Amino acid sequence: MKAAVYYTNSDVRVEERPMPKAGTGEIVVRIEASGICGSDVMEWYRIKKAPIVLGHEIAGVVEELGEGVTKFKLGDRVTVAHHVPCNTCRHCLIGNQSVCETLRTTTFDPGGFCEFVRVPAINVDRGTFLLPDNVSFLAATFAEPLGCVVRGLNKAGFKPGMNVLVIGSGISGMLHIKLFKALGAGFIAATDIDEYRLSAAEKLGADMVMNGAFEDVPDEIMHKTGRLCDLVVLCAAPDSAIKQGLASVEQGGGVIFFAPKEPGETYPMPLFDLWRDNINIYNTYASPPAETQLAIDLIASGRVTVEDMISHRLMIDETQRGFDLVAGAGESLKVIIEPQRKPE
Ligand SMILES: [Zn+2]
Ligand SMILES: [Zn+2]
Repeated sequence: MKAAVYYTNSDVRVEERPMPKAGTGEIVVRIEASGICGSDVMEWYRIKKAPIVLGHEIAGVVEELGEGVTKFKLGDRVTVAHHVPCNTCRHCLIGNQSVCETLRTTTFDPGGFCEFVRVPAINVDRGTFLLPDNVSFLAATFAEPLGCVVRGLNKAGFKPGMNVLVIGSGISGMLHIKLFKALGAGFIAATDIDEYRLSAAEKLGADMVMNGAFEDVPDEIMHKTGRLCDLVVLCAAPDSAIKQGLASVEQGGGVIFFAPKEPGETYPMPLFDLWRDNINIYNTYASPPAETQLAIDLIASGRVTVEDMISHRLMIDETQRGFDLVAGAGESLKVIIEPQRKPE
């Protein structure tokens, strides 16, 4: 089978790999759609494992059943999580699955940017989800990224009516905007430094968009709403974005650090101000099973539409182009690889 193998952001090669086989308790899924995530082009994070088949936002059809699998049947339409929790460690038991060691080390084989994937038994057990008929393979690739956003908002105690600011309007920023809208946020402000993304953010539901490169974000928000934001989500990690975010949060509010800085990087936090103003800082990542299921439900109900964020659908031979588009962050939103699609 064909697999797109990652060496660097600018060196993704389509190689021949053996067809995976389902062992006991495992399944093989024929991948119909596989989203490129912003984290796939975070080179410092990915390059240490290269060469590797990336891709963790997948949807497809159950192609082969291993011995003992009763939960699924051939032909089932599914989305599969690459990381799944053990559900028994102390972190899992109190609901903090993101830091479960099992969650961090589980994955499917070889990855999402290929034609077929072997799903280990633990992922079959708690990381494989049936798709409702009205959820397309394309839409289902958003289950994981939307699940990550659901988790962050739950963790930060989001409530209807809160005024919110999303810094960075790439896909994760847009998913935040959409979820805020679906969950009844008050005023939704968004920033980016790219005009294409700002106009997309506005179309998708932001009440106010600002170019973070030259607008005084907290000042503009004050002007428009008379106060700062109850919740600020940082979907971008440059110092300037963090500074803007911290300056835009209302007393007693919270800031979600959704996009990470690189290991070893630091930022001088205004600790006194944060203490005085009772600002809460939240760190969050990953989409454990409960959040993935909720994301699928949100997509199926139509409360969060996702297909309107897809800007490119590519064949597996075009995976390099997909990486170029996502890494370039220019005129693209969601880029999806369709491994079964053949040239017309
Ligand atoms: Zn992702
Ligand atoms: Zn655990």
